[in-house]
Amino acid sequence: MSVELNALRDQIDEVDQQMIKLLARRLALVEKVGEVKSQHGLPIYAPEREAAMLAARREEAEKQGVPAQLIEDILRRTMRESYASEKDAGFKCLNPELRPIVIVGGQGQLGRLFARMFRLSGYTVKILGRQDWEHADELLQDAGMVVVTVPIHLTLDVISKLNNLPEDCILCDLTSIKSKPLQAMLDVHSGPVVGLHPMFGPDVPSLAKQVVVYCDGRGAEHYQWLLQQLSMWGASLCQLRAEDHDHGMTLIQALRHFTSYVYGLHLSKENPDLAKLLQLSSPIYRLELVMVGRLFGQDPNLYGDIIFSSEENTAMIRRFYQCFTEAMTIIDEQDKARFIESFAKTSQWFGDYSQKFMSESQSLLKHANDAIHRG
Ligand code: NAD
Repeated sequence: MSVELNALRDQIDEVDQQMIKLLARRLALVEKVGEVKSQHGLPIYAPEREAAMLAARREEAEKQGVPAQLIEDILRRTMRESYASEKDAGFKCLNPELRPIVIVGGQGQLGRLFARMFRLSGYTVKILGRQDWEHADELLQDAGMVVVTVPIHLTLDVISKLNNLPEDCILCDLTSIKSKPLQAMLDVHSGPVVGLHPMFGPDVPSLAKQVVVYCDGRGAEHYQWLLQQLSMWGASLCQLRAEDHDHGMTLIQALRHFTSYVYGLHLSKENPDLAKLLQLSSPIYRLELVMVGRLFGQDPNLYGDIIFSSEENTAMIRRFYQCFTEAMTIIDEQDKARFIESFAKTSQWFGDYSQKFMSESQSLLKHANDAIHRG
């Protein structure tokens, strides 16, 4: 039997090696695509092309007895690689006349990412770091655009120092909250102003499909090229009023980070053996643990600043706390009927999204399971 098995395994190894060669060929082609897109100023992410290509491959795969989802998984993973490598070919510069871009906080995590993207697009980038304020006038005097990306609690103070920018200079920021920084920028500078919030961390392989929220400040016609440049990097733009952005972030950021923080804090007090928990965990628990644990691998100042940034956040967290306390009475009273009733009501509220989320999470869980190695 082992001879038979070994012969089959040898053939599988050979097929895998062919797959590697084919992938190498595909990546080389993608590199050329990156160069062409860069020359012609085309965005790295083309949703229609991606959808049409996936639909065609799914159909072809099915005809050959290959599960459609298998080819889609392989291609999506390959495309992620492609977007990252296409990015390295650089991007067409949409505003070649722009004077230097000064990134205040450009040595920070997000600042470095944006400095790299602007340089890949042919712009001259200068960094104004914490120690550079003595020479700030020199750095800022010919700035075409200033990007503020410093820790949230320092942002208003830093913006207030930008009171002598050239009139036509664009002033923008990347802060995770928007109302106060946008107002501060409008107060300090009379030229074009726009607030940006990249809805991703600095560890993304490329900006393909990543969301960037923008809040118009003043002189929108002067920074359209910037929005187009972000699209060319693959980002999906979302225009919002600063207040609406901050309101949305009470749930998307403040409450989520706070509940993860409390969960992690509680876990640390319970002090279970994490290795054992992982050994026992279902894919969904592993994902949950990973999502909570990753918070504690990051800068507490960033999350603290986000959570403490508004009264609205505090009010939202307090309402969640009340909801938790009310839900606790169901447990205290061992009232299973009430539990089922409130569960059904909530499920009704989610409506069709429940099923949508079921299938989306199934695919995530399969990926999480694939990544596990149980030695
Ligand atoms: P960071 O701490 O990594 O970087 C901040 C940089 O600012 C550092 O290099 C620091 O030396 C510099 N700095 C501090 N004080 C300064 C001053 N007075 N003058 C000039 N530079 C100064 O922080 P980060 O994670 O890159 O976050 C920066 C901004 O990006 C924040 O507003 C944050 O809300 C936003 N943001 C971060 C993320 C993320 O995941 N990291 C995501 C979206 C938005």
